[in-house]
Amino acid sequence: MPTTFRKKIIAGNWKMNRTASDAKALAAEVLLEVRKFDEADIILCPPFTALGTVAELIGEVPNVFLGAQNVHPAPSGAFTGEISVAMLRDFYCRYVIVGHSERRQYFHETDAMVLEKVKAALAGSLKPIVCVGETLKEREAGAWQEVVTKQIRDGLKDIPEKDFSDIIIAYEPVWAIGTGKTATPAQAQEVHAFIRGLIAKQVSPEVARKIRIQYGGSVKAENAAEILHQPDIDGALVGGASLDARAFAAIVLAAARPKPTTQRAHA
Ligand code: PEP
Repeated sequence: MPTTFRKKIIAGNWKMNRTASDAKALAAEVLLEVRKFDEADIILCPPFTALGTVAELIGEVPNVFLGAQNVHPAPSGAFTGEISVAMLRDFYCRYVIVGHSERRQYFHETDAMVLEKVKAALAGSLKPIVCVGETLKEREAGAWQEVVTKQIRDGLKDIPEKDFSDIIIAYEPVWAIGTGKTATPAQAQEVHAFIRGLIAKQVSPEVARKIRIQYGGSVKAENAAEILHQPDIDGALVGGASLDARAFAAIVLAAARPKPTTQRAHA
């Protein structure tokens, strides 16, 4: 597969942390640190209650975008506690995380639900960050390929090829999320290359070359560079470390720095 330049994308998933006022302080600190790194796209995903205040701070900073952590596929209606694409767009959200393993595990989100959310997001000009990844049990059973194949096949079923330029995939092995255990760079690279191969078959080789695939699972300042310099890893979805502005900025910096030994390829 010929190499294509893919701009790195680093997203911070703040999960259910920070009140609106605390989120404002964190976002201000993060922006101070990262606004100069325009070699990477940076996404901040605060809780819903802080979207407005973080949106105001992000304003017109060209390399930083707002993301949400979830969305409901219906445009409106009797879905107590849920949030629609239009409501997120109202706060200038550009991205939304879909199918995070915590949503799959605690809120029983299925691949079919992920697909509905992806379609709704795309229809409303929100870019979905679609999370896939195997549990520890599945990895130990040697089933990661099967699990990831099903998640990609069913979660992105029949999405038109033209829409893939707005889709990000995040490979997040469940056993590495919030556990301090990181997949080795080689393990992560193996799965990323595998996912790219799946997309080549399911959609097209061109889409596979262009699609950005983030890695997520205990990424921190100390391990970011090695992970982000793998050829098929195009960024990181960061949980815990995104709550610390300095640590998050160090990850962004690792992504913004060109790979130390080899030349960058261009499309
Ligand atoms: C995540 O929640 O997407 C995540 C990767 O979390 P952490 O970085 O804390 O493992």
